[in-house]
Amino acid sequence: MKTLLIGVGQAGGKLTRELVDYDNRMGFGAVRGAVGVNTAAADLRDLPFETVLVGRDRVNGQGVGGDSELGADVMETHTREVLATLEGRITAGIESIFVVAGLGGGTGSGGAPVLARELARVYDVPVYGLGILPGRDEGSMYQVNAGRSLKTFAREADALVLVDNDAFRSVGESLTGGFDAINREVAKRAGLLLAAGETVEGVGESVVDSSEIINTLRSGGIAALGYAAAEAAPEAGENINTVVSTTRQAVLTGSSLPDATDADAALLIVAGDPDAVPRKGVERARKWVEEETGSLQVRGGDFPLSSGRLAAVVLLGGVERSERLQSFIDRASEAQQSEKSDESAADPAAEWASDDLDDLV
Ligand code: GDP
Repeated sequence: MKTLLIGVGQAGGKLTRELVDYDNRMGFGAVRGAVGVNTAAADLRDLPFETVLVGRDRVNGQGVGGDSELGADVMETHTREVLATLEGRITAGIESIFVVAGLGGGTGSGGAPVLARELARVYDVPVYGLGILPGRDEGSMYQVNAGRSLKTFAREADALVLVDNDAFRSVGESLTGGFDAINREVAKRAGLLLAAGETVEGVGESVVDSSEIINTLRSGGIAALGYAAAEAAPEAGENINTVVSTTRQAVLTGSSLPDATDADAALLIVAGDPDAVPRKGVERARKWVEEETGSLQVRGGDFPLSSGRLAAVVLLGGVERSERLQSFIDRASEAQQSEKSDESAADPAAEWASDDLDDLV
């Protein structure tokens, strides 16, 4: 799937850079362009693609300091500048736009949903979000920002792929120290997904194309991306169990949003040497995904790669019912309630789109 990436805020810019690097390193060519947008000049300095500094009139290139309402405001005022940078980059070949942002801060948290809304208004291609949830032990400002951004971003984008910063954290590792590792994990998942939709026709038996990604995300809302890999035996027949167990791991332990397995739709991509991918294994793995997600809309396909390993990438669409998401929303709503010091409103949000969290825009 030929994609244009727009990284908003610090985390958005860094993750976008990682996505660009991964796509280049692997020689996939699915990422057709990238732009970084920020209110903080310093965070744009190291990005190896075009950047737009917004809100100079308000914050003088110093960033919005975690104020996501200000982040949303600045983006509203400067959307036109950002859109002008995109002109000519969104060519006929581009099949989707991804707006990438950390949801806990200010610029990305507030700006990404506004930008997604404007992009969806102007362009015909789907506009997806790739959003990062703050870890459990980040402060309450991050939780509230992310709760409000999540709700607004999911509404404005065609779908929002979520990454929980706690998902890829090694035991005992500090969150900040782990950001680069988290970004690499995300880049691998998203990079393989996008590249799978780019496969040359006729190479594999049943290759994936971009419309399968679009259809899997069609119900909108929240999505998650899982990945796992294992050594492959040279003969396809010996890899049946490997494909099934790798798929299981991708969903159960390798997901960007752990425990989000109740889904509206899913796409299973099995990547590896075409001679080593067993049809029977792919079919069994697809059945397993159907049972695990409770969805009858499970698509499947191969991603032919020359590798001694087999990998499973699983895109789950419509996972808002997940417990993990609920517990995040509860955390964010409680943090907002205590910020408002409204003790009487003790009933935490029951739905991800709950009115307990104020809309950002
Ligand atoms: P902004 O520049 O105002 O949009 O704020 P940030 O992008 O720094 O957002 C802060 C949030 O993003 C916090 O929840 C951080 O945990 C998270 N974050 C910051 N940098 C990174 C990063 O490189 N990777 C990941 N995964 N999360 C990050």
